[in-house]
Amino acid sequence: MNEQPTYIVFDLEWNQCPYGKDRENSRLPFEIIDIGAVALNEKKEIIGHYHQFIKPVVYKKLHFRTREVIGIDRKELDMGAHFPHAVIEFFKFCGEDPIFCTWGDQDLLELQRNLQYYGMLSRLPGPLRYADVQKLFAITFETRKTRRSLEYAADFLGFQKDSTFHRAYDDALYTAAVLKEIPDETIRNELSLDSFQNPKSRDEEILIRRKGYEKFISMEYASRDEALRDPVATRLHCPVCGRNIKRILRWTPAGHRNYVALGLCGEHGYADGRIHLRKADEDRLYVERVVQSANDETAEKILGKFRKQ
Ligand SMILES: [Zn+2]
Repeated sequence: MNEQPTYIVFDLEWNQCPYGKDRENSRLPFEIIDIGAVALNEKKEIIGHYHQFIKPVVYKKLHFRTREVIGIDRKELDMGAHFPHAVIEFFKFCGEDPIFCTWGDQDLLELQRNLQYYGMLSRLPGPLRYADVQKLFAITFETRKTRRSLEYAADFLGFQKDSTFHRAYDDALYTAAVLKEIPDETIRNELSLDSFQNPKSRDEEILIRRKGYEKFISMEYASRDEALRDPVATRLHCPVCGRNIKRILRWTPAGHRNYVALGLCGEHGYADGRIHLRKADEDRLYVERVVQSANDETAEKILGKFRKQ
């Protein structure tokens, strides 16, 4: 490859414990066995290919679902590379600072979990911004909340389906073809944030704001109380102008580790706030907060459900 890639579209296949969850290695529930990727330039033209099978070492026997869904021949895997070698090659292929693109949010998560298992996470420092092509497909062609399979998207866009699905390289090619149909502006404005490597201190915290939407990832806390007492983590801004706003509903429990709040900006209307307490390493917690503009109907629904509990 002579050009630096702008986008790296990748897909992974993984295996899991063939003897059930009870006997799995909790540090590596999914072991990557197949990496496929294509590199695209700014115009989303393919400028490079990467494919590598990985020889499984944690779960040497394939789970029946892995065999069924992926249909990889055992012999192909046995000739595969050792994961640490394969990812070093993969990152070489990726070039410097590409935008990673995947179908859904799980591939990047499992890549990081496998890197962590091998003590190699520093090769992919996070938190990572990436393009979730499944989400971008939904935003562009359906509604923001729909989530479709890759095969559905390929049919929807009328692609010729020459190869099978659920092989990493083929899925990367299909995902790249879908990405080509997404306007550049949508990709830029709708990047996702992966928080597997969450901020550890105040100055690493992340705040993303675009019109009518704000996402915040906090540092870590020792307990739920500590998190909810932190004025930075529980701030409620107007997601349009960013000003502090009047609270109509204080942060109220809304199920397991979730909280909801409602604010009102005199100029921009309601703000629907959600906090999710996420687990970090060693029983610590961090706050993921999303604040979005809401219409009267949504505001009334929230108040009806959560006020005066
Ligand atoms: Zn406002």
